[in-house]
Amino acid sequence: MRTEKSYRLQIEHIFIDVVKKSIKHMNLSIRAPDGRVRIAAPLRVSDEMILTFAKSKIEWITSRQGKFVSQPTQDLNYVSGEKISLFGKSYELQVLVHQKAPRVVLNTSEGGIELYIREKSTFEQRESAIFAWQRNELHRLVPALISKWEPIMGVAVNKFGIRRMKTRWGTCNIRTRKIWLNLELAKQPLHCIEYLVVHEMTHLLERLHSARFFGYMDRFLPDWRERKIELNGGKVGLGSLMED
Ligand SMILES: [Zn+2]
Repeated sequence: MRTEKSYRLQIEHIFIDVVKKSIKHMNLSIRAPDGRVRIAAPLRVSDEMILTFAKSKIEWITSRQGKFVSQPTQDLNYVSGEKISLFGKSYELQVLVHQKAPRVVLNTSEGGIELYIREKSTFEQRESAIFAWQRNELHRLVPALISKWEPIMGVAVNKFGIRRMKTRWGTCNIRTRKIWLNLELAKQPLHCIEYLVVHEMTHLLERLHSARFFGYMDRFLPDWRERKIELNGGKVGLGSLMED
């Protein structure tokens, strides 16, 4: 009889897909395209042993995962008919010509987004207009999230910024109390953005991804794991960015 059992374990911020089957030795692999961690283990091996095994390889895992990080394969040309995401919702893009500075208008009732831009605009111009709009939307959203969580968590964020990052959803500079968010977050659902903001703010209480850190997360945002999974595996996610 062939028995096989698969489930998921977590160590620090890394999720591990475990497959138990009738093999002799444990083996660990990092899988393309998104750097997912998989451990195949003999049936008799306990979760504790698997976690100990993973822990001993954690530096290797992290460095290997870094190699899978890549830019989104969206292949957008920013032309009419394409889908553009904001806060977890997808909108159909309509490119319209006008002779002033680029402008983006979201038509929530019709599920469309209108990009007004000069005739013969280049890809870079259209992309930068969309990026500016997404950045602006994040700038409108995030201060309210920070203000909401500061009194709950008992921390104060000095400032926050938005930039494009290749490997991180966000970072927190503990010394300056500045939080950086990845522009990609603008595409994500609000509850995922909130998770990331709380994660970065938690670093003001605890620098490392330690048990203490995750204890805070459990207390502040008990469903943070679900939000994290959605952020990293969601349809519009890159699948390989990490919180820092
Ligand atoms: Zn972190």
